[in-house]
Amino acid sequence: MARPATRSLSLGAALYVLAICAAIVTLEGWREWVAHDAAVLKAELDTSNLARSMRQHAEDTYELAEQSVSMVAFQLNTNGTDAEGLRQTQAFMTSTMAGTQRLRGLYVYGADGNWLATTAENMPPGDNQRAYTYFQNHLHSASGAPFFGAPIRAAGDGAIITTVSRRFNNPDGSFGGVIVAAIDARYFSGVYHTIDVGESGSINLFDGAGRLLSREPYQPKFIGTDLSGTEMFSQQLATRNSGAYQFVSPIDGVAKIGGFDRGARYPLIAVVAVSRDEALASWSRSAVQHAAITLALTLGAALLGLRLAEQIYRRQKSETVLEQKEAEFRLLAESASDLVERFESDGTRTYASPALERLTGYGPEGLIGRNAFEVIHEDDRASVRAAAERLRSGASEQETVTFRRMHRDGRELWLETSLRIAAEQSDNPSVVGVTRDITERKRLEMRLESMAMQDGLTGIANRRAFDMALSREVARSRRTGAPLSLLMIDADRFKRFNDDHGHLAGDTCLKAITEVVAIGARRPTDLAARYGGEELVLLLPDTSLDAARTIAADLCRQVQSLAIPHPRNPPWRVVTISIGVAAIDPREEDAVHDGSWLISLADLALYDAKSQGRNQCVAAPIRIRPRLAG
Ligand code: GH3
Ligand code: MG
Ligand code: MG
Repeated sequence: MARPATRSLSLGAALYVLAICAAIVTLEGWREWVAHDAAVLKAELDTSNLARSMRQHAEDTYELAEQSVSMVAFQLNTNGTDAEGLRQTQAFMTSTMAGTQRLRGLYVYGADGNWLATTAENMPPGDNQRAYTYFQNHLHSASGAPFFGAPIRAAGDGAIITTVSRRFNNPDGSFGGVIVAAIDARYFSGVYHTIDVGESGSINLFDGAGRLLSREPYQPKFIGTDLSGTEMFSQQLATRNSGAYQFVSPIDGVAKIGGFDRGARYPLIAVVAVSRDEALASWSRSAVQHAAITLALTLGAALLGLRLAEQIYRRQKSETVLEQKEAEFRLLAESASDLVERFESDGTRTYASPALERLTGYGPEGLIGRNAFEVIHEDDRASVRAAAERLRSGASEQETVTFRRMHRDGRELWLETSLRIAAEQSDNPSVVGVTRDITERKRLEMRLESMAMQDGLTGIANRRAFDMALSREVARSRRTGAPLSLLMIDADRFKRFNDDHGHLAGDTCLKAITEVVAIGARRPTDLAARYGGEELVLLLPDTSLDAARTIAADLCRQVQSLAIPHPRNPPWRVVTISIGVAAIDPREEDAVHDGSWLISLADLALYDAKSQGRNQCVAAPIRIRPRLAG
């Protein structure tokens, strides 16, 4: 019934917990991915901006070099190329150089390739420029435009330099020579060195053809390298004026994020690259921390959630078992002919099977929730309560109680209930009772019991009942101090009556005498009994000897007045009786007497009555007592 629902509910709870955990992990992962992208974007922006500054700086430097060679050309034109003119031009060159650190030197070479003026303190001997590309270029081109040379190794100190040069003409317009401004590659790297781009970062300066002009960190072997064939150059630097991209450096093999910027005035490209790992270090540190915290929290939540789901499963499973047990219990209870009930430990009825109505005439509606003790007969309530208490305290596991209660139709019912604790684990254990109607049995028992106490012929109490009543009343008399009288009654000359009329008539006569004696038992505590043979007794509690004698005399008169013919009982010729009367009176006597003493005394009095002529009563006088004692 409820079992599949239980499983699916707890499974649903477990899946819900896992789904929430998965959602948290996914959201956190997505957030980190966005943060990662933001970190990359920031690195790209930073490197692009720095590349723009570096390109600007490089263009300024080349512009200065270009202006310098233009001004030297002007000086040469003005001063001429004789010795004095050259001296003045060289002085101008030196003063120009003094204002800047950007230029390595200014040089004027004649048409033959040898130097004419220079800012260098020591020109290497035999230095001749004719062989250089730029020189050849100017020699064969009449243009006065500046020329940007590829990086070359300087003749003197071997430094790697780039050049900006222009041609100057003789006054006749023929080729006069070349003016050269040299820029040391180390100048740029020196400037770049002051900028922090991390341990694996680099700042690079290329010319438009893809040759490396300078670099920080400075590595001379790479200066002049042509990178135009690389993917980086052909797909990024050559295609856009500025931008950013990710690449693996062809120089150091490190994965990098690079920003670049191409000059508009000069064919220069600045590339600033930072190590991808370094750029993302702060992000990855926090990502690892976040991941660890998220995982720990999620794992904790998942474990807690699954634990709860398991507990739901267990609880519902045990509830299901309980429900099943309850259903089985009801099935059994409702099909049983006995009444099955359940009570709380205080006696409140929580369940009653349909047999209740058949048994008591009452439906369960009015009785559920009521206290079960209410309907029990007052005299039986204490014993049932005691049994319930023994169960509750654990003194016994099962109790059987017998009690009376009323049927709806007013009959008194005798019921027998077996009580048992139902759920021992519970704090408030319930009690299950199984009840059957024993009214018939009880009646039978009582009938048997009263039969055992009754005389078969006369229907009054028998000797056994008398003995019990006598000892009870003697005890009561001792307790209360009230007198107790006994009449010992014997039919006169009854042997003869039998002989004359037959035994059956004797029995009928005996019954007639008995009726008279029974009427003499007026109070509820008075008891008339057949003592044996044709002898009867009348026990009269709380009755003095005198009162008893009066009653006895009356009985004698009444029997005589029955007028049952008995010819051989002279002088009355009807049936008569003789009575011996005795009493215990604790108010007048010091001695403690018992039942047999009272019987003996009455017997003696009866003997006296007989011997004094019959049809009379004799009270055992005080004087008899010494005789008894004697
Ligand atoms: P007494 O006046 O001295 O008492 O003479 P009695 O003949 O009555 O003598 P006793 O009391 O000794 O007699 C007992 C007789 O009572 C014996 C028996 O015939 C008769 N008897 C005793 N029990 C019964 C009885 O149950 N039914 C009948 N019919 N007679 C009984
Ligand atoms: Mg007798
Ligand atoms: Mg007799």
